[in-house]
Amino acid sequence: MVAKQMNPLDILNNVFGYESFRPLQREVVDAVIAGGNALALMPTGGGKSICYQVPAIARAGCGVVVSPLIALMQDQVDTLKGLGVKAEFLNSTLDYDAVLEIEQALRAGALDLLYVAPERLLQQRTLDLLQAVEVGLFAIDEAHCVSQWGHDFREDYLRLEILAGVFPGVPRIALTATADPTTRQEIVDRLQLGATNQFVSSFDRPNIFYNIIEKKDPRKQLHAFIRGSHPGCAGIVYCGSRRRVEETATWLSDHGINALPYHAGLPADTRQEHQRRFLEEDGLVMVATIAFGMGIDKPDVRFVAHLDMPKSIESYYQETGRAGRDGLKSDAWMVYGFQDVAWIRQRLMESEASEDFKRVEWRRMNAMLGLCEVSSCRRNVILDYFGETTTEPCRRCDNCLQPPETWDGTQAAQMALSAVYRTGQTFGANYVIDVLIGKLSDRIIQYDHHNLPTFGVGVAISVNEWRSVLRQLVAQGVLRVDMERHGALKLTEMSREVLKGEVALEFRKDRSLVPGKGSPATGKKSAAAATSAIAAHDQELWEALRALRKSLADAKNVPAFVVFNDRSLIAMCRERPLTHGQFLAIDGVGPKKCEEYADPFIAEIARFGDD
Ligand code: ADP
Ligand code: ZN
Repeated sequence: MVAKQMNPLDILNNVFGYESFRPLQREVVDAVIAGGNALALMPTGGGKSICYQVPAIARAGCGVVVSPLIALMQDQVDTLKGLGVKAEFLNSTLDYDAVLEIEQALRAGALDLLYVAPERLLQQRTLDLLQAVEVGLFAIDEAHCVSQWGHDFREDYLRLEILAGVFPGVPRIALTATADPTTRQEIVDRLQLGATNQFVSSFDRPNIFYNIIEKKDPRKQLHAFIRGSHPGCAGIVYCGSRRRVEETATWLSDHGINALPYHAGLPADTRQEHQRRFLEEDGLVMVATIAFGMGIDKPDVRFVAHLDMPKSIESYYQETGRAGRDGLKSDAWMVYGFQDVAWIRQRLMESEASEDFKRVEWRRMNAMLGLCEVSSCRRNVILDYFGETTTEPCRRCDNCLQPPETWDGTQAAQMALSAVYRTGQTFGANYVIDVLIGKLSDRIIQYDHHNLPTFGVGVAISVNEWRSVLRQLVAQGVLRVDMERHGALKLTEMSREVLKGEVALEFRKDRSLVPGKGSPATGKKSAAAATSAIAAHDQELWEALRALRKSLADAKNVPAFVVFNDRSLIAMCRERPLTHGQFLAIDGVGPKKCEEYADPFIAEIARFGDD
């Protein structure tokens, strides 16, 4: 067992092998060690685990971690054991003897950390057991699951309310990556955390590069993106429907990309198997619906791609946030189009939610469309949405690196608005475009719209450009899509000003319509752009260390990152440690890992000399 009463920095250095705390980690750790409750809001990859693991080791008694995902407990516990921490989990996958053994260790005071699912914790047997031993703290991971308004609500989480009463004096620390203030307040209330000790870090994910382009031939665009930017790397591709997941996974596999499907319609054991392979194998692409998500703790997901637009900025942020937990450069890449708006609308209309809820969701969708259509820094739009003030453009999104060309679209906007108006504000984008370009379709003739003065006025502009214009009009609030009326385009307050020529409108030229300009992220080489941190002359060593890591992990039957994460391997390529002392100085190497792995890694590094 790790010695109690060590100071937090010593624990961080000697157990976890990290040099210093990240912003806010130290504050949270100190508050909890002092016996206080805390709420820690940090983005994915921000380092929440350290916030309760260090205090659990520092405080007397065992730290109890409540986590909703049984499937992930094994990895978390394996990782901790790999560091020499006495950690175990209690869940339904264990047989009776194993449970007894763990209970005994707990009674003997021999555990630093115990992971349990909420339903397990709340069983009388477990509560009795924990009341009979010393509990150092309760850490409630994914704490937003207590929120009834949230997307991941769980009945069992609600019942965690009893902790405050049953275990008075045991600090409770709630952790989540959900930024929304209502959810935050609900966590504080339900878990009775008190008003103090709320730690909210910036939601910026500086290592994620945002790139959003217009949808043309989504699978081909995706293929070019993966081949160009992340060949052989792990990634997640989100699709809006199960069918699309299946089709895309098959198509990618047929085109030389190692891909697996994941959605709620697959049998549970297939899902589990695919998730396990994604975690353990190098460079697998998971094509999934949003059923694949919460708690995907794989640190080296190099990209998250969206083939369909998520329903809100919250969803987009959360889904893209699964990239780059290890802090290395990663991509959030998306294609979108008007068909996504129609699809989201259709699903909303079919849902049984209340009218209020639908209206709120529709507003959220509009904000998401706004993010797609904006010409300025995308990161700033996201952070502003979560209430963070930003000033400087980020220089790490497509719009910053390659500012979109703009054009004066006032006249085009007037044509579009007048076509919407004269067709009675009852038709969707495709129909309005047909009127604008003067297409003599049966429907147009049926409604006698080929005799309108606007019929054919926009023939000089292509269909794709018109789509872009209409999307931007919606994103800027000059037109709106009527959720109830089959997605018909309608005029707004602002339309009148535009029609009267009182305001001028600037449009962005869609990148895909500007010849010769692909997305800035494509066209780059190297698999290890994963790792653009790897210098060219370190490539061979990098591959060799990855292979070594894989064989060591396979031998122990754990995922590769339990041995070392990419960040540590990159540091080895750069520093080329040849002694135990040098090896210990690598980020992520503590005494336990040094003892276990220094020799094979040093031997491999020595083979490559120090060029
Ligand atoms: P979260 O749960 O917030 O998504 P994790 O706790 O999984 O994030 O941490 C994300 C990554 O950051 C992990 O690879 C972890 O080892 C690393 N990490 C956390 N804290 C530190 C630190 N102080 N120094 C270096 N690496 C850290
Ligand atoms: Zn930017």
